[in-house]
Amino acid sequence: MARLYFRFGAMGSSKTANALMVAFNYEEKGLKPLVLKPRIESRDGEKTIRSRIGLERECEFFEDYFKEDIEETKKLLAGYDAVVVDEVQLCDPKLIPQMYAVVHDMELPVICYGLKTDFLLQPFPASLELAAIADVVQELKTVCWCGNGANCNARIDSEGNVVREGEQVMLGGNDAYISLCYAHYKSGDIGPKMRARYEKSR
Ligand SMILES: [Zn+2]
Repeated sequence: MARLYFRFGAMGSSKTANALMVAFNYEEKGLKPLVLKPRIESRDGEKTIRSRIGLERECEFFEDYFKEDIEETKKLLAGYDAVVVDEVQLCDPKLIPQMYAVVHDMELPVICYGLKTDFLLQPFPASLELAAIADVVQELKTVCWCGNGANCNARIDSEGNVVREGEQVMLGGNDAYISLCYAHYKSGDIGPKMRARYEKSR
């Protein structure tokens, strides 16, 4: 039985690398995965997803396959063996319920990777929708500099301070994010290594 997966994790939890491995596993078996990312995530319109450990591959835009009309979506997805979606938090939340229909009407697995919450710990609308309807919700773990599990995505300004206000999605900004445990997110302590990096660049 096909299932709808939401694999979430903070920055640096290898979500993209995991997405690429899943796609590779399908291909290795002679199957045809479709790898998607939201168009908004593409800085210069390039259809590539790239993980921090250096893996990358071509992808398509989510909006070119998931349409308001579910029948159109199903036509576009016909012939694929799995759909892998990276950065799902930036997808249009109105289109998330279609994933469920695709999985269960077409027996087509949809495997999504993304953040649950933004830099203010507010849920991304698409992630909220997806968490509610996914058949399987799994956490990909990463650690704070202190060694504890990190589940907060802190946005850092150019001086290394944790940002406490702003837009949920900052496009084209050279904003930096790091994942912190809740205690260090609250205190704004980015750790000695990161601090040293910002002090050096001052
Ligand atoms: Zn910590």
